[in-house]
Amino acid sequence: MIDLTTICAISFFSIACLLFVCNFVRRTIYTLRHWVADLVARHIIYPVFIRQRRFFGPFTRFHLLLLTVFWAFSISCTLVGIQSMADARLRTGTMSVINLTFLLVSQPSLVADSLGLSLDSYLKAHGAVAWMAFIQALAHVAISMKMEGLSVRGTSQLHGILAFSAFGFAILLLCLRRHFYEFFIKLHYALGFFAVYAVWRHVRARKTFSHVYIFAGIVCFACTFMLHMIKLIGRNFGPGRCFARASFVARNDAVEIVLSSIKPFRFRPGQFIYLRILTMNKFSILQSHPFAITWCSETQRGHADTISLLATDRGDFTHMLVDHAATKKSCLACVDGPYGDTIDLSPYGSVVMFATGIGIAAQIPFIKEIVESRLRWESPTRRLSVVWEVDHQGQLDWVFNWMQELLDKDKGNYVLRISIFHSNPSADPESRGDHDRIFISPQRMNVKQVLDEELRLGKGRVLVTVAAHQSVRGAVRDSVLHHMSRLKNGKISEGQWETPKKDINTQIQLMEKVMKAFIRSAEVLRQENSSIESTETRLHDLLHSIESVWRALSLPRRLSQGVERVQSIELRELSFQPDEGRPSTAV
Ligand SMILES: Cc1cc2nc3c(=O)[nH]c(=O)nc-3n(C[C@H](O)[C@H](O)[C@H](O)COP(=O)(O)OP(=O)(O)OC[C@H]3O[C@@H](n4cnc5c(N)ncnc54)[C@H](O)[C@@H]3O)c2cc1C
Repeated sequence: MIDLTTICAISFFSIACLLFVCNFVRRTIYTLRHWVADLVARHIIYPVFIRQRRFFGPFTRFHLLLLTVFWAFSISCTLVGIQSMADARLRTGTMSVINLTFLLVSQPSLVADSLGLSLDSYLKAHGAVAWMAFIQALAHVAISMKMEGLSVRGTSQLHGILAFSAFGFAILLLCLRRHFYEFFIKLHYALGFFAVYAVWRHVRARKTFSHVYIFAGIVCFACTFMLHMIKLIGRNFGPGRCFARASFVARNDAVEIVLSSIKPFRFRPGQFIYLRILTMNKFSILQSHPFAITWCSETQRGHADTISLLATDRGDFTHMLVDHAATKKSCLACVDGPYGDTIDLSPYGSVVMFATGIGIAAQIPFIKEIVESRLRWESPTRRLSVVWEVDHQGQLDWVFNWMQELLDKDKGNYVLRISIFHSNPSADPESRGDHDRIFISPQRMNVKQVLDEELRLGKGRVLVTVAAHQSVRGAVRDSVLHHMSRLKNGKISEGQWETPKKDINTQIQLMEKVMKAFIRSAEVLRQENSSIESTETRLHDLLHSIESVWRALSLPRRLSQGVERVQSIELRELSFQPDEGRPSTAV
């Protein structure tokens, strides 16, 4: 019999082994997770397989993989087990109806959010399912014609042909959507409703299971419609509130739309709303357009109660907005949203933001988030570079006030750097602002050069975000991929090492400055018999000084560990990409 001491020894030994194995597994998973994530990002998620074409794209390898899986699965389900023409006709028809039911939603952004997809990914999926349903319907019609010839006998066949025609027309309209978006979207819905009605009449007479699918699709539509309405009513109506109030501020050739009197909500950068202006003119009520929330003022509980959008003249609706700004009259507006997901910025040591033109509207909330998190000492981001290409000098006025406020808030931290490029040569490259925080160049943005420099100075995990036109987006993607491979092969490391001498000098200067500020603030606080607010501000400054001193004092420890370098690079394309006015590939 084993005695108690042996049991005790075995137990201790087992526990030690277990701890060792657990730790080993945890570390392996941790290492593999990063390794696998990096591999998948470099080879599947980021590389573009088909670039933006006139009517479709861009598609990354990831999109293509998903499409292939979906198409292979759908085609197998359509073909496997078919024994006769009648079988084939029934199967193609049923599969087409099944796919059709997935297309029936009221507000795409609502469904995209519920599924955890970006609007662009959702619309791509919607397109893929629609094409599959159309091809299956085409096969169904072709087989029916082969079996029965082209004859319209009875309402079932008539409705089948009507449904197919509506479907075909809706697909054909896709080619024209860029030019007549408003017309397209309304006709698209109308054709969708008509096709569903016609399919319902077509399958009802046939006693197949398809009408159950159609019914499920209609229920789905009704549910999303109801959810949408609840959200819409909740946002626009409430005690003492009836629709939002929109006021317009002209910003050179753009307009800032300030929306107040909405139900406050917790705003996250990256969100957008659909805006419908009710009282601008007779037709404005018919249009609803998406705009990124660029700025917001918050209640004490941190909820946004007034939001600002920035719009440029792109077509009918935006032209009306820009024109209306001159009248300075406010209007009633209906706010649908917010929709869209955010990016968690907390793990990143450096963030580089690329924007062209109005793309800056989508980047500003992220800049604000980082700068304000730094003020609350919650952000590890030590370098935030905004790289913006403008078409003309006047575009700087669009965001001047906001940028000024952000630069002021950033004083003391100095994480924010803004580089402005433009194609119209007007002056020599220049640096502006304290600590050279604004750099203006008359040249076009050279993405590769900018990213090389940013990665040379960057630290820790680097995030690159883009809201730019197609060519810049492509260049950023290529550059990020290039740097990811270099990082993988260890080639990037040499460039990452900052010269310790420079680091020490700047740190000592910083230390001197903050120590002086520290002493000044402490003295003023002691002497001044001031109000609570000014004491609060001074205390805040004082705490800041202490934090900076603490950071400066941690210098020797960091130096002894070796200067940090870039660990990984990630790319995120925002939901608004300026050239098409519709979202692009979201990663
Ligand atoms: C998520 C998102 C955020 C956006 N944020 C901004 C922003 O902050 N500032 C800004 O100026 N623009 C933004 N846009 C683009 C803006 O929605 C379009 O410029 C606007 O809808 C154009 O309408 P229009 O009647 O003036 O021109 P139109 O001639 O009707 O449209 C011009 C182009 O805009 C796109 N578009 C039009 N209506 C819609 C719609 N309902 N949904 C999606 N795309 C549409 C189409 O691609 C169309 O080709 C954003 C778009 C999206 C998808």
